Amino acid sequence: MTSTNDIRRSFLDYFGSKGHAVVPSAPLVPHNDPTLMFVNAGMVPFKNVFTGLETRDYSTATSSQKCVRAGGKHNDLDNVGYTARHHTFFEMLGNFSFGDYFKDHAIELAWDLITKEWGISPDRLTATVYHTDDEAFDLWKKISGLPESRIIRIATKDNFWAMGDTGPCGPCSEIFYDHGDHIPGGPPGSPDEDGDRFVEIWNLVFMQYEQEDNEIARDLPHPSIDTGLGLERMAAVLQGTHDNYEIDLFRALIHESVELTGAKAEGDAAASHRVIADHLRSSSFLIADGVLPANEGRGYVLRRIMRRAMRHAHILGARDPLMHRLVPSLVAEMGGAFPELVRAQALVEETLKLEEIRFRRTLDNGLKLLDEALVGMEEGGTLPGETAFKLYDTFGFPYDLTEDALRSRGLGVDREGFDAAMAEQKAAARAAWKGSGDAASDAVWFDIAESHGGTEFTGYTASEGEGQV
Ligand code: ATP
Ligand code: MG
Ligand code: MG
Ligand code: MG
Repeated sequence: MTSTNDIRRSFLDYFGSKGHAVVPSAPLVPHNDPTLMFVNAGMVPFKNVFTGLETRDYSTATSSQKCVRAGGKHNDLDNVGYTARHHTFFEMLGNFSFGDYFKDHAIELAWDLITKEWGISPDRLTATVYHTDDEAFDLWKKISGLPESRIIRIATKDNFWAMGDTGPCGPCSEIFYDHGDHIPGGPPGSPDEDGDRFVEIWNLVFMQYEQEDNEIARDLPHPSIDTGLGLERMAAVLQGTHDNYEIDLFRALIHESVELTGAKAEGDAAASHRVIADHLRSSSFLIADGVLPANEGRGYVLRRIMRRAMRHAHILGARDPLMHRLVPSLVAEMGGAFPELVRAQALVEETLKLEEIRFRRTLDNGLKLLDEALVGMEEGGTLPGETAFKLYDTFGFPYDLTEDALRSRGLGVDREGFDAAMAEQKAAARAAWKGSGDAASDAVWFDIAESHGGTEFTGYTASEGEGQV
């Protein structure tokens, strides 16, 4: 079996052998970019190279970039445990051309790697192009020999990428793998495309325009390439499973979680083990990159992730802190590729343990309150927003943790009521909020406030009876 570590290596070696500079992953906290919570794509560390603000001594590069999508524009937190292909933390393998090669070579490189180096049958593959991108359509036909029926034109912004309202942009082309008709889901562009059957494995972005303002887009003098291939999704394909959580790496983590909790990975417990394994990765890598749990900004996103995993550990019957005991397995799986994880191991374990101890102090009471509030509620019912807010305010239950706890029972939460209670609380907090004096963290503050409707965190310390970690 090709291990996940082998696949990362083989990708980087392949592009290295084609003249690309092999660049290590950047940290998860974006350098000099207050608009972004966490690095969420392989191109992020190269942003300024694409726009020409920065130059490097190479014109093509390859990397395996650590990514977190648990807030902001790309938020996959709620997908974890529910789809077979989403993580909050994942690795994006990428190859980049900064004004060097363009569409034809990018397609050729990707096609050869997948079908020749890795031996995937073309019968399993489908490509999408932006509906107006005839050039890409023709190139796919010529290079891959795929029948026209499996080169699908897509008109949505799924196939048009832009860095922001202005700046580089262009059409993209995605490669999908068909896991077979025993898995529910339809081909890209069909009404049931959201299933796990046709899985998007690779996105090729063709940066060919520069958006100057709303109206004007001009041709970039040196078009560029940015691609992203999900390592865990590719590992699933190459290991003969449709499910990312069944690849070697996740099996090892879930095996450990089963051992330590004594709860078999079956039924609802299977989802809990997945959440734990996924969130263990995002939490550990965030802590290793310097994020600590807090009640605002990046630290709050980390805290939400950690607590969600900890609630699932509780559901599985763990009565003592669990998460920190899983760290050695993670280090065994990933420490070779990411030495920062080895260096930070003690800090990661200590941080997880402390957070779990403090969360457990209030968890039982919070869950009791939740159970009481649920008495007599029928399937499809809605928890009053005030109760959700009380859980947040008094017991440190992030909103989405409450929502997640109810979702599995077919219940919802009154978001508006929660927002109203929060707004009241926040008005008071705002009066006391003088700003951190740090433009970057203030920007992050507003970033989150915006993406979550201004509800999910406040400038005060939730009354857990203690300050921040
Ligand atoms: P999807 O439509 O499946 O959510 P995406 O279009 O949001 O994926 P891109 O932004 O194009 O993803 O990222 C490039 C590649 O990174 C994807 O083709 C996929 O292989 C991988 N990827 C994206 N999000 C995740 C995730 N949450 N977990 C694991 N892999 C991911
Ligand atoms: Mg997505
Ligand atoms: Mg997509
Ligand atoms: Mg995509």
